[in-house]
Amino acid sequence: MRHETTFKVVIAGAGVAALEAAMALHEFAGPRVSMQLVAPNTAFSYRPMSICEPFGYTPARAISAGRHRGVRCAELIVDEFAWVDTERQTAHTDKGAELAYDALLLALGARIRGPFRAPA
Ligand SMILES: Cc1cc2nc3c(=O)[nH]c(=O)nc-3n(C[C@H](O)[C@H](O)[C@H](O)COP(=O)(O)OP(=O)(O)OC[C@H]3O[C@@H](n4cnc5c(N)ncnc54)[C@H](O)[C@@H]3O)c2cc1C
Repeated sequence: MRHETTFKVVIAGAGVAALEAAMALHEFAGPRVSMQLVAPNTAFSYRPMSICEPFGYTPARAISAGRHRGVRCAELIVDEFAWVDTERQTAHTDKGAELAYDALLLALGARIRGPFRAPA
């Protein structure tokens, strides 16, 4: 079945949350949804496994983003989400791209910071 109009989804991020969302949307809505995934990373690694590395376990596997199913069902844009114009429903990137959306998902994770400052 051909769909004349697709619902445009822009997903910012390519971690677990973003990729799970892309796969779920693809599963539920198929060709009715077109997705653009904006992220600076071109590889996805399963971070929880990295805590085993110091104990001699195999390093956490990194999968090239192009091979991940969550990325293959979207258009990958290697860039960073910068700001959003909610009135025009447009996401702006660091490199100046303007991505129009019907729905925007921010799955940007969290910043890692030390819990305290080391003494000088
Ligand atoms: C060492 C370690 C061990 C962990 N162990 C466990 C565990 O055992 N069990 C567990 O449940 N959880 C664990 N976690 C936590 C788990 O990794 C996180 O909960 C999970 O990664 C969060 O997924 P996320 O997609 O929300 O964010 P992230 O995985 O952080 O992904 C964020 C994504 O957003 C991208 N991004 C950031 N800024 C921008 C921007 N401006 N524009 C576009 N993209 C952007 C990043 O490049 C990345 O792709 C662990 C984390 C770490 C670091």
